[in-house]
Amino acid sequence: MTPESNLSTIAYIGLGGNLENTLELLGSARKAIEAVPGVRELAFSSLYRSAPMGPVDQPDFVNAVMAVETSLAPRDLLKALQMIELSHGRVRTDQRWGPRTLDLDLLMFGLEQISDQWLTIPHAGIAGREFVLYPLAEIAPPHLAIPGMGILSDLVSACPRRGLEAIGHD
Ligand code: ATP
Ligand code: CA
Ligand code: CA
Repeated sequence: MTPESNLSTIAYIGLGGNLENTLELLGSARKAIEAVPGVRELAFSSLYRSAPMGPVDQPDFVNAVMAVETSLAPRDLLKALQMIELSHGRVRTDQRWGPRTLDLDLLMFGLEQISDQWLTIPHAGIAGREFVLYPLAEIAPPHLAIPGMGILSDLVSACPRRGLEAIGHD
């Protein structure tokens, strides 16, 4: 990050994975995100263990949410996240919600709403996903307005934990 960078937007990133070494991978991904020029970490949630969404014949997931301050444009931040996924061994398959080494979702980018072929902001899955909402609520203000979806604390209240458990701080 150069000193003159104007870090002005708060973005939230969801991290997840469910293959071996996920804990190490999430730690490594966190460092890689912090190392992206124009990105600074503000907060990192506890790690959470959650049951897989979609195909059930796969290991539990580990998830966390990271808050960053950034000078990047949303698409550039997404590209950086996708490069980090690839550098951590992510192989894209046809199976949606299948096993993966590392999944980095751009959950929110300030109060922006974006909907195009590559990027939907806020991320379409925020509202119903306990493994996003609970870690997000740990590091974001409870009154956070999620554009088009509602207030964070209301979304959390409406979302059952479904066995989600915190597995400790890093
Ligand atoms: P989900 O998005 O429902 O959590 P997923 O994470 O398994 O599913 P991926 O295969 O990782 O889905 O991503 C599919 C595509 O989603 C990517 O190619 C990317 O362009 C697009 N995408 C759209 N909005 C976002 C976003 N906010 N964050 C990350 N990827 C996004
Ligand atoms: Ca995802
Ligand atoms: Ca993804």
